[in-house]
Amino acid sequence: VNKYIATPSRTKEILTKYNFSFKKSLGQNFLIDTNILENIISHAGIDKNAGAIEIGPGIGALTEQLAIHADKVVAFEIDQRLLPVLQDTLQPYSNIQIIHQDILKANVSEVISSCFSQEQPVHLVANLPYYITTPILLKLLHDNLSVESFTVMIQKEVAERMAAKPNSKSYGSLTIAVQYYTEAEVVMHVPKRAFMPQPNVDSSILKLVRREKPPVQVHNETFFFMLVKASFAQRRKTLRNNLVNHFKPDWDKETIVQLLEEAGIDGNRRGESLSIEEFAVLANAFYSAVN
Ligand code: SAM
Repeated sequence: VNKYIATPSRTKEILTKYNFSFKKSLGQNFLIDTNILENIISHAGIDKNAGAIEIGPGIGALTEQLAIHADKVVAFEIDQRLLPVLQDTLQPYSNIQIIHQDILKANVSEVISSCFSQEQPVHLVANLPYYITTPILLKLLHDNLSVESFTVMIQKEVAERMAAKPNSKSYGSLTIAVQYYTEAEVVMHVPKRAFMPQPNVDSSILKLVRREKPPVQVHNETFFFMLVKASFAQRRKTLRNNLVNHFKPDWDKETIVQLLEEAGIDGNRRGESLSIEEFAVLANAFYSAVN
């Protein structure tokens, strides 16, 4: 009986056959637990209508399950050594396309329009290389792709930051950057033993569902994100002090105090207590004063 790739025995067999050595620098921790993969696929909302994009197929553990459950899979893999392996392990499936490319350099938008039909819902699903989790997700979100959801395995701590609520330790500028584009939810935590080799950090599955439009209207997105970052520059400082620091020497303290007042936001609060709506009001008041 042919076992799925995502089992310890089959994975070991493939690694031995190809004399494969893991590259830590590429975040290579392969999934060896089919139950976890089924969880990922069902949370991703994949069905036989759907197109799936995967980042980093490795030896094909998740790719195989996507091929079984989706209409078509397109996967980006940076490591050339894995191409012949994937050609072998995924040979039984005819609905997979592997693209040998660094995802950070890929034109994903073009790939989506050329590989999937326009009516087809497209979902991104991945066990991400942890060394570039945040750059990958922020790039994909900023690129405004026609992807309905992102269901990704990432470091637990980063998942918690992306899905955080105000007034929590994890809430910060990354939370706002992600929640401006999506609704974020930590779906489940995953034990280290689900991977080969086991990673040094804990892992979680994060689901991001793209919003039709941002939850707030800002005059200028770049300025908004910049002000959010400035508000968290030193977490223990008040909003007022962080903003004074950021805008000096152009604006003095009195100007900052006055703008905070105009926005109706107490400068003694800390950045971590502001909702995305309050950040939008604040950024818009400051932006109007600059322009
Ligand atoms: N999907 C497989 C699994 O779950 O078993 C492998 C996941 S492993 C955590 C991450 C994969 O991403 C590796 O195959 C690695 O070579 C690939 N990778 C690393 N950096 C990449 C990049 N910049 N672009 C595309 N793939 C990358």
